Amino acid sequence: MHKILTLSVLLAATPVAAAPPSDEVGFGVVEGLTTEVGQRLAGTDAEARARDWGLRRLKALGFANVHIETFDMPVWVRGAESAEIVAPYPQKLVLTALGNSGATPESGLTAEVVGFASLAALEAAPEAAVRGKIVFVTHRMTATQDGSSYGYFGAIRRNGPSIASRKGAAAILIRSIGTDHHRVAHTGVQNWSGGAQPIPAAALSVPDAEQIERILDLDRKLTIHLVLTPRMTGMHQSGNVVAEVPGRDAAAGLVLIGGHLDSWDLGTGAIDDAAGLGVTTAAAKRMLDGPTPRRTIRLVWFGAEEFGGFGGEAYAKAHARERHAIVGESDFGGDRVWSFKTTLADPKSSLVGRLESALAPLGIGHDSGPAHGGTDVEPTAAALGTAIIDLEQDGTRYFDIHHTADDTIDKIDRAQFGQAIDAWTAMLRVVANSPEAIDPVTRKGGE
Ligand SMILES: [Zn+2]
Repeated sequence: MHKILTLSVLLAATPVAAAPPSDEVGFGVVEGLTTEVGQRLAGTDAEARARDWGLRRLKALGFANVHIETFDMPVWVRGAESAEIVAPYPQKLVLTALGNSGATPESGLTAEVVGFASLAALEAAPEAAVRGKIVFVTHRMTATQDGSSYGYFGAIRRNGPSIASRKGAAAILIRSIGTDHHRVAHTGVQNWSGGAQPIPAAALSVPDAEQIERILDLDRKLTIHLVLTPRMTGMHQSGNVVAEVPGRDAAAGLVLIGGHLDSWDLGTGAIDDAAGLGVTTAAAKRMLDGPTPRRTIRLVWFGAEEFGGFGGEAYAKAHARERHAIVGESDFGGDRVWSFKTTLADPKSSLVGRLESALAPLGIGHDSGPAHGGTDVEPTAAALGTAIIDLEQDGTRYFDIHHTADDTIDKIDRAQFGQAIDAWTAMLRVVANSPEAIDPVTRKGGE
């Protein structure tokens, strides 16, 4: 006990970071976007209002070269959504349409349900078992600190609807790709592939999916009435909001950071991804208020990430001729950073050593695995062969909230959010000022 006390006294006395203790800039971004704009579905007027809000806020914070870069994208909007079990046990269900879902007739459709325990089971099913039915696919995703289970289980959402459609299903319902047991459904994008025609596609809340599983386990014929009336509205404008912390040495290349401005339309997009914008903006603001860095830091609030990374693609296209030294993105909620990864050429280089020294006092260890970036910065890294840095946030509770009506500002833990800002600031101080060139280990086509 005595030893532990001594250690905590020592830790408390150690200056963890020279940055100001307040995260008012970062939290102000989250508060402003979620309160003054609200949901920000890609390509809609709400997302345009968010760009205008961002332009004003970033100018007011004193950033340089603040502007909007627009692009066009096909826009999907949600309609009515409801479902109920008709037989054998009539009751209402909680669900939400997946992005790019097709629609039922306005009066809905009624069909028998065929259940599958996995995507592989659906893939293996003969067409005759699926044709004309409502496909239901379930899974057992659980929470992980690094969020890696999302990649595997998320395939049910990404690919399940196309597979069901190609087999002639009338509609598809999946168990939400989420780790909570609240009666809220998790939306998310899927794209019709391999010639699949759009069919109604929705996610049931986890408790409702488990209800369906129980009824199917009784071997009773299960019939559901489903109403989903989303629609494609044609091409509309989206855009990226760009701001800079000017550096001293233009030839040294840019440090590109940011997150995404658009959100799903169920909550107010607090953890996904106003938090990422708040974290990166607050860290950039600290750099702006400090000594001029060697490299220019470019902060981008990317548009239309959720529907497939239109903003990241547009940015890569528009800025392919500019030298980028390193890219990084914050799109994994507002919780603390616990490890970092890079694609830097030499893991034993002094640059990596300086990153380790800067981040270790915040409890952040170096993970030797390669960084992957994120949807917004990957196209730039791929096109230019730019180095990537990932500051890995704790994802233990991320998929409880992700893409649900529960994604609201009260879910932000201010202490963890502040630590993430400290981490990004510490990282920027190192990479924006490093005297050496920053070289990635992998280049385009070289992986
Ligand atoms: Zn996101």
